[in-house]
This record gives sequence, C-alpha cells and structure tokens, in this order.
Amino acid sequence: MDKYETIWRERYNHPTPWDQQFAPMSMVEMFEQSAQAQPDAPLIDFYGRIYSYGEVRDGARRVARGLMRLGIGKGDRVGLYLPNVPHYVAAYYGIMMAGATVVNYSPLYTAAELEHQVEDSGTTILFTLSASALLPTALEVLDNSSLQRLVVGSVAGALPPVKSFLFRLFKRKETVARPNDPRVMAFSSLIDNDGDHPAPPIDPEQDIALLQYTGGTTGQPKGAMLTHQNLTANARQVQMIDPAPGSVDRIIGVLPFFHVFANTCALNRTVLNGGEIVMLPRFDAAQVLAAIQRTKATSLPGVPTMYQALLDNPATPNIDFSSLRLCISGGAPLPLEIKERFEAMTGAKVVEGYGLTESSPVVCVNPYEGLNKSGTVGQPVPGTRVRIVDREDPAKEAPPGVPGELTFAGPQIMKGYWRRPDADREVFIGQWLRTGDVGLIDDDGYVKIVDRLKDMIAVGGFKVFPSQVEAVLYHHPAVKEALVIGIPDAYHGECPKAFVSLQEGAKINGEALKDWLNPQLGKHERVCAVEVRASLPKTLVGKLSRKELVAEEKAKAEAL
Ligand code: AMP
Repeated sequence: MDKYETIWRERYNHPTPWDQQFAPMSMVEMFEQSAQAQPDAPLIDFYGRIYSYGEVRDGARRVARGLMRLGIGKGDRVGLYLPNVPHYVAAYYGIMMAGATVVNYSPLYTAAELEHQVEDSGTTILFTLSASALLPTALEVLDNSSLQRLVVGSVAGALPPVKSFLFRLFKRKETVARPNDPRVMAFSSLIDNDGDHPAPPIDPEQDIALLQYTGGTTGQPKGAMLTHQNLTANARQVQMIDPAPGSVDRIIGVLPFFHVFANTCALNRTVLNGGEIVMLPRFDAAQVLAAIQRTKATSLPGVPTMYQALLDNPATPNIDFSSLRLCISGGAPLPLEIKERFEAMTGAKVVEGYGLTESSPVVCVNPYEGLNKSGTVGQPVPGTRVRIVDREDPAKEAPPGVPGELTFAGPQIMKGYWRRPDADREVFIGQWLRTGDVGLIDDDGYVKIVDRLKDMIAVGGFKVFPSQVEAVLYHHPAVKEALVIGIPDAYHGECPKAFVSLQEGAKINGEALKDWLNPQLGKHERVCAVEVRASLPKTLVGKLSRKELVAEEKAKAEAL
C-alpha cells in the first residue's frame, strides 16, 4: 500500500482501500440521490428566498427538457455565463441531465475572450442574466460568433418578496433584451414545460460533465475535460476528509461557481452531503458578514484575499461567528498571519488546500482535525497519489528531499484537454498530471510548494498569464520588447509588473505606459508598475527571459 494511503487511512479510519472507494457515479445520479433523499430540505438561500432540493430538481429537469426541445443532446456544449444565482444551479444540473456538457464562462471575460471560448468549445447555447453587465457582452458575442442562442434569466423572480423594490428595478430593465430576436430566449420560456425528459445514459468515466477553461502551464486558454466521475470523485474526496462527514453544512457560496474550486467545494460537495448554499452573486465583505450572521452559516470556502478583506472590515468584531466551523482556503498560498487572525476572530478552523483546474481541482488539503503544518498545502486527499519528478527531466523521479515538479494521479484528474492532443502530451506522463508547481513532500505526507515552473502569476485566487499582458503591451508603438513577471504584493500575494524596452527614438515613461495599459486589462491583470529599461534579459539563443527579472525582484523584496 502507498505510504500516504496508509497515513490517511489510519487518520480517518477508512477500512476500504483507496481504489475501491470511488465507484463510478454521474453528476446527475449524485444530484438525484440527494434530491430523492430530502426533497423538502433547503438547497439554496438567495437573500432569504429558499429553494428546496425538490424545487431545484424540478427546475433542472425543466431546463433539460427545454434544451432537448431545442435539439441539445449528448455531448453538446452549453455555456453558463452567470454569477452565483439560483439559475446557475438549475441550468448546471439541467444541462447534464440532457446529456450535454457544461462550459463555464467567467463573468469577467471581455467579448473577445468570450468569443474565443465559444468558438473553441463549440458552445451553441449560452445562459446569461438580464439587468447585468453580462448581457450586452453576451449579445455582442451572439452577433459575432457561431453561438446560436442566448437564454436570459432574471433575478427579479428569484428574490424574496421583501426585495420587491429590486424586483421592480430589474423587471424594468429586463424587458428590453431584444424582444424580436428569436435567438434570445427568456429562462422562464425555456423552463415552461413539465420537465419530463428521456434521461440519456451517462458513462461517468468517459462523458464530459464540464469543460473548464484554464491557461494551464502556458497561458494559452484551453478546456480541461472533467468527466462526471472526476467531479463526483473530487466532491467525495473533500467530503471524506471531514472528521464529521454526517454533518450538513450551510455554506457561504460567494466564490464564483464558474471557477472549479467553488464548483467542487461549494456546489457539488454541498449537494453530495445534502447541505445548503447561501448564495451571493459577488464578493462584498459587509454582505458576507451579514449572511454568516443571518443564516448561521457553518462553512466558508474562500481565497486568502477574501479572508483578509473580512478581517479588515470594521463590522467584523461585532459579528456572531459562533456557527462557523470550517473554512477551506485555496487558489493561492495562505499567509499564516491571515489564517491565525481569522481563526482567532471567528473560532472556526481555516485549512489550506491546493489543486488546479485539471484536477477538478483538489489534490491536497491540510487535515481538518490534527496537525496543520503551516507553509504546506497539506496531504494528498484520499485516492490521490503524488510523485515528485526531476525539474529538467520529468521522466525521472527527483531524489528524496530535492524539490521537483509535483505530479498527481487519481480519480479527479481530467480526461485531457479539449481537442488539444499536443497539450495533453505536454501535461501527462502516463497517468501522472504535471502541475508546473515545484514542491517537496515530508515523511508525514505534507506537500510544500516552493516554486513554480509555469509563467503564471497568482493574484489572489485569480491567475494571470504574462504572455497575455505582454501581447497588449506590444500594441503600443513605442514598445520594442516586453516582459511581465509577478512581484510580491502584501494584499494579493503577487501582482504583475511589466518591463519594457523602447523602439529607437521613442520617448515614454513607465507611468504613462501603465496608464495606457491598465484600462485594457481585466481587473486582476492590471500591472502595479511598468519599468522602462535600455534592454531586457535574453537567453543564450536570444529569447527574452523572465528568470533574471524574477531573481532581481526577489532580492529587492528580501532586502526590504
Ligand atoms: P487554477 O488552475 O487556475 O486553479 O490554478 C492552479 C494553480 O494555482 C496551481 O497550479 C498553483 O500554482 C496555484 N495554487 C492553487 N492553490 C494553491 C495554494 N494553496 N498555494 C499555492 N499555490 C496554489
């Protein structure tokens, strides 16, 4: 038996070997089982309006029926371009009930990013929301891409009656979404049916439940194919490490569901254990605090910047946190200081986990009970095997105690990238998924990340790829060469910084370039500085090289 399997099974008293614990299960089966067991239990709390498991199941079945009437079937791609609203959950499971694949779209996407993903994935129908900033972008994409249809929901009807002033506000704006365009359909029309649909057979291990786009290790956006089994296995893995697996959580769902961390840890895992999601469409510290107090929430999955923002909020000392038991932090390193302050303030336990889109995402978590080793991302979750390979030659294992690239195998590892066999060859060594993260594992099975091979910058939980920011910089006529790296940032962990050299005779300073650049970038991509240099470092073959700049900035930060 694997050494780390022994450690876990002893800790959690699991009699069954790992490889027998994850019988194939589809997402539809997982959802139906919970809804069947407790149709009247609450699944969603949306500003106090409660949706039971039975209601959401009814909505999802109607979505499935509506989509099938529109010709959607097995393997078709249907997109969700939505914040966390009740429609998201009904559409998510409804698409899968129709045998189709969900494609998650970030609400932060520009029209160009959205278009690219629509074309790459072959999304034919996209769900979005009226009275939101998303709708104009979605309409633009409908006109300029091969997208065939938009399904537009409205939160007006989803809110409780006390919010009637909001209802009126939304209602007014809702009616203007192209009433004469047959390609634009209201969510309410889509679900105007009895929900009765022939359930297509699903092969959990082969059929793709979710296409989750990521920059991977190169920054080139590509769809990670997550099967039904990948997602249900990861929900079960996260559930298995809970020392109180029978406890039903009321979880704050404020991390955006379009991201795979929230998808597994807030949505799927909650559905698996029959819990309740307190849904918030966007992060606002005061609203999160109020929601914890109002609903007596027990769990808050988050990213480090979120816990920091909650600690900084002036209302925090007056909030009753006594219901909160468990917070799982991921996406970026959790500074010890934030963890300790948040635990002291709330009395809840904050555990750090680690993973990536390609692994659905959780591969390691610090134990909920027992020793949390600070500076580590914890131990592999059940069923997960870790192998540390040589940084230069991934075919070889790294010698014991020497940091190497972390690779993982397990039931949560993606099937591959959507239509990208070239990218598959780069990321897989047999069954082992390369992470682009460099780490070590200690004798107790705790994994520590010490470096990154990929050119990714982690800004809070968001990922920024230097190549994308550099591509924008090259559009400036004065820019000859550009390199972007991550530098330490007290709040976000890292922040992108650009270095440029200028064309012959060009004159512009870093501040002016920054002012030109930032408005063209997504919120998290914005650089904290642009530095103009006479020339930029190059490798022996003359390729621009970020390595020297990273070392320089690291030395500067350490000297402070
Ligand atoms: P994504 O696929 O966008 O979720 O990004 C995954 C990457 O985020 C990983 O490969 C890591 O580089 C980084 N990451 C996730 N969680 C952590 C963590 N707890 N500590 C450090 N880096 C993390």
